[in-house]
Amino acid sequence: AELWQNVPLAPPDSIFQLTAAYKADTFKNKVNLGVGAYRDNDNKPWVLPVVKKATSILLNDEALDHEYLPILGLKDFTSAAAKLIIGSDSPAIKEDRVVSAQTISGTGANHLGALFLSKFYKWNGPAKVYLSNPTWANHHAIFKNVGIEPVDYAYYDPKTIGLDFNGFIEALKNAPDRSVFLLHACAHNPTGIDPTQEQWKAIAEVIGAKKHYSFFDCAYQGFASGDLDKDAWAVRYFVEQGLPLLVCQSFAKNAGLYGERVGALHIVSSDRETANRVGSQVSVLQRSEISNPPSHGARLVSLILNDAGLFEEWKRDIQTMAGRIIDMRKELHRLLTEELRTPGNWDHIVNQIGMFSFTGIQPEQSKALVEKSHIYLTGNGRISMAGLNSHNIRYFAGELDGVVR
Ligand code: PMP
Repeated sequence: AELWQNVPLAPPDSIFQLTAAYKADTFKNKVNLGVGAYRDNDNKPWVLPVVKKATSILLNDEALDHEYLPILGLKDFTSAAAKLIIGSDSPAIKEDRVVSAQTISGTGANHLGALFLSKFYKWNGPAKVYLSNPTWANHHAIFKNVGIEPVDYAYYDPKTIGLDFNGFIEALKNAPDRSVFLLHACAHNPTGIDPTQEQWKAIAEVIGAKKHYSFFDCAYQGFASGDLDKDAWAVRYFVEQGLPLLVCQSFAKNAGLYGERVGALHIVSSDRETANRVGSQVSVLQRSEISNPPSHGARLVSLILNDAGLFEEWKRDIQTMAGRIIDMRKELHRLLTEELRTPGNWDHIVNQIGMFSFTGIQPEQSKALVEKSHIYLTGNGRISMAGLNSHNIRYFAGELDGVVR
């Protein structure tokens, strides 16, 4: 025991703590709006029908074994995954200058991308990454772990419960040239607020002028609008503009493969020869971290991406999830504005996109919802829309009305 006497007790992860509190609660109408995982209208995890199909194909494939995958993962998976996010007709794909590594879901992609930058990026001063304020809390930890200091850039404007576009542009302009900016490709977590295409164009212009590096995190492709291409728009636009970037990709949400840890890191280089050198170093880093990525989930996604029929079916499953979430946004908005006539403007509920909504309520109001109403949400007022369904939405709207009135 003496050896570890100076190890301080770390606080528990707030999201997982919230889930534990929800589970322990015996109140019949309790509601979990904490964790970002899709639930169906009966609050059950949803195994996508297309994933069930792909699983049975794998189970019946007698030729499959449990050998190691290559260090950078299953090539059929990473190639198809790169096309999915970057676009199959993208010049970067055609010119074979994208390096792809299969990673431990989106978290692993963020880590490997950050690690690669920590070793090889031509830093202009101390190693720093600009993160939106707020962002997914894990971004801070992931970059700190590899010695890159996180600094905030303006993103959320509490006055409008919308994007602080001018603040964002100013931050891009004021950062030293060649700074690294982490950008949420779509469905910004935690706010659900994305730039419009016009705003993305303006952001890209400043990023180009300042020679910044774009570190895209894409954890919700398809989940936001229901359309895989639409949700990839910003990334594809940046690639078209020739801006240097990498993309972290997760299949946790859009394929419902949370626990299988399927993801990829794609680094877009200026030419094939550079891509080869980058890829060789990513391999070296991956080798010492995980040696080889896990095979099962990557095989599932590879089947889905490389078979036209399964791919169409997956798109329908994505629409089922995104559609239910959009319906919940509309219904919550209707209940608050038309039925309950809750004070304040609630248009942000329908304007925001993806898994989460930033309600704009105060920490003490969030606390009251947890403690008095058995509605579990994070202190920043973020709710997971997937936790709402036709059975509990009225209860939630009523309690929300109660705390803001
Ligand atoms: N980035 C963001 C912004 C996320 O919200 C998430 C999921 N919460 C991830 C990355 C990574 O998740 P996973 O490792 O499960 O793919």
